[in-house]
Amino acid sequence: MNLEYEEIVELLRKYLTDEQIDRKIEAKLQELSGLISREGAACIIAHELGIDINARRLKIARLIRGVNTGEVIGKVLRMNDAREFVRDGNVGRLRGFLIGDESGVIRVVAWGDMVDNITMGVGDSVKIESVYVRENNGTREIHLNERSKITKSDEVININKRKHIGEVAEGFDVEIYGTIVQLFEPRFYEICSKCGKRVQANGENFVCKEHGVVDIEKVPVVNFYLDDGTGNIRVVCFRKEAEGVMNSYSAGEQIMVQGRIANNNFFNRLELIANHIETLEPARVIEELERE
Ligand SMILES: [Zn+2]
Repeated sequence: MNLEYEEIVELLRKYLTDEQIDRKIEAKLQELSGLISREGAACIIAHELGIDINARRLKIARLIRGVNTGEVIGKVLRMNDAREFVRDGNVGRLRGFLIGDESGVIRVVAWGDMVDNITMGVGDSVKIESVYVRENNGTREIHLNERSKITKSDEVININKRKHIGEVAEGFDVEIYGTIVQLFEPRFYEICSKCGKRVQANGENFVCKEHGVVDIEKVPVVNFYLDDGTGNIRVVCFRKEAEGVMNSYSAGEQIMVQGRIANNNFFNRLELIANHIETLEPARVIEELERE
C-alpha cells in the first residue's frame, strides 16, 4: 500500500464531509485499537463505501514515466494553438498546453483526433484519466492519444506553491517562508566559460564534455538550513542565488525561498534547490501569518 493518507481522504471527500471522515477514521482506529495506521483506516472506510482507491488522484509532481493508473486534475495555465506537422509524408496534428496543481506543472500534448477534444481554455480545470507520461529532453510530458480521456472538471484547483517544510515531497515546486538557522561556508566549483556546465579537472587543464579543454569560471554553491516551525530542510543555492546569500544573509534572518524539492540520494534526505530567494519584511511576515 503506497497511497498517501491525503490522497485517500481526497477520494473520501467526494462522498463525505471532512467532519464525517474524521469521525469515521477515529471510530475505525478505536475499533481496531492500534492495529492499523490512519492511512489503513482510511483505506478500509473507502472500501466499505465501495470507492475504488486504485482509481486515485495523482499529484503532478509524482507522475512517473509510462502509464500512471489513476487520474490527474489540473488547471490549464497556458494553451497553445493546434498545429500541423508532416512526418513521412503524412500530415499530423498536435496541440500542446500546460497544466498545474499544487505540486507542480506539466506539459500536455494531444495528438491526432484528440486535438478536437481540447476545447478548454486557460483557467479551466481538466481531468485526465490513465495518464501516459513520456520524457522529452529530461522533461516529463503527458501524451494524449485516441485512447486517452480528458474532460473538463468543475473542481477548483489551488496552485498555491506555498508549503510548510513538514508537508513537502520530492518533485514539488514550492515556496517556503522560514528562518535561516545554520549557514555553511560557500564552496566553489569550475564551469565551462562557453556553456556554463561543470568541467572535469585533468592535470593542469579543465575539460568540458562538449567543448574540450576550456577556460573556466569559478562559481559558488552555498548551503543553509531553513526552519519554519514544522521542520527544517537543507537549501542548496547555486550561482546567482548563492552570491545573493553570501552577500546579504546571515543566520536568524527570515526569508522566502522558491525552488524544487529534490532527494539527495547520497544522504537520502530531501533538499530544496533554490531558484529564487527574497528577504521577508516583518510586515509581510505578519501578513502571511494572518492569511493562514
Ligand atoms: Zn562547455
